[in-house]
Amino acid sequence: MDQILRFLRLIWAGPNSLLGLVAGLLTLISGGRVQIRRGVLEFHGGFSQWLLDRWQVFGLTLGHTILGTTPTALDLVRDHEHVHVRQYERWGPLFLPAYGWCSLVAWWTGRRAYRDNYFERQAYGDEE
Ligand SMILES: [Zn+2]
Repeated sequence: MDQILRFLRLIWAGPNSLLGLVAGLLTLISGGRVQIRRGVLEFHGGFSQWLLDRWQVFGLTLGHTILGTTPTALDLVRDHEHVHVRQYERWGPLFLPAYGWCSLVAWWTGRRAYRDNYFERQAYGDEE
């Protein structure tokens, strides 16, 4: 039963993971690397580093993939990013629109679009 549920979570989060795999492929062909930690593909260096440096973040989760700047940065953000992995497993293809909506509402109501986003508050441990 656990394996069936895990398979269903992989499929449900799959469209997001596919985006992560495209970014991961760009990372690998631009000199980056991949590692597997806690059942998730983690890409670092190359394109991932270039992208995250521009956004000034250390990590970014897309389904069952995590992009990071360096292996050390991935170690630091892994717990946080795995909360997002669970969110992708719950929300599937609806996660990115829901995340964007929460940022828009936070911004619209005078709060911070990133840090006051419901999903980030959950990942930072502010929400259950
Ligand atoms: Zn986050």
